[in-house]
Order: sequence, then structure tokens, then C-alpha cells
Amino acid sequence: MINRRKFMSLFAIGTLGPSLVNAMSHSGTVAKVKESDDNAIALKYVEVSAVDGQNCANCVLYMASKDPGWGACAALQNNLVAENGWCLAWAGK
Ligand code: SF4
Repeated sequence: MINRRKFMSLFAIGTLGPSLVNAMSHSGTVAKVKESDDNAIALKYVEVSAVDGQNCANCVLYMASKDPGWGACAALQNNLVAENGWCLAWAGK
């Protein structure tokens, strides 16, 4: 059984969670990945895929964001990558 205190904590997490994630994405903690970034170079990330049928949008590590055309990439510290991008870590959904 959930007591009042636990219920209020779960309610707060459910209410504040998305706001915190949104705040983080606007606080400068999430950046658009540049092809020249060290981690991007290591993964041979490009903003426009040259591999047929493979791009960030259909990669399992991609999570759409509120920024059209960009999404968070788990392989690049959850920074934003172009949906048409690609890198060596691509894995199909
Ligand atoms: S891991 Fe997937 S989403 Fe991330 S840059 Fe590579 S192809 Fe794009």
C-alpha cells in the first residue's frame, strides 16, 4: 500500500521529471554535436549519412527531441545529433 508521503514523492517525480529534462535541454547541458568534436571524430559522425538506409533517426540510440531535426544520442553523451546523421555506432531499431 502506498502511504501519503510515497504518493506525494511519486507525484512530484511524475510532475517534475519532464520539466527537469526539458530544463536541462535548455540550460546548455545538451549541445549539438559537431563533426569536429573529439567523440564525433572517434565515431566518424557526419551530419548527413552516406550509408543507404542508415541514419540517426532509425538508430536505436537516437531519441527525438523538441528541436526539429535533432535528437539525443546515447553514444555521444546524449548530446544532439542530426536526424540525417550517421556514425560507426549505428544500430537499427
Ligand atoms: S549512435 Fe546512432 S544516433 Fe548516435 S550518432 Fe551514431 S547513428 Fe546517430
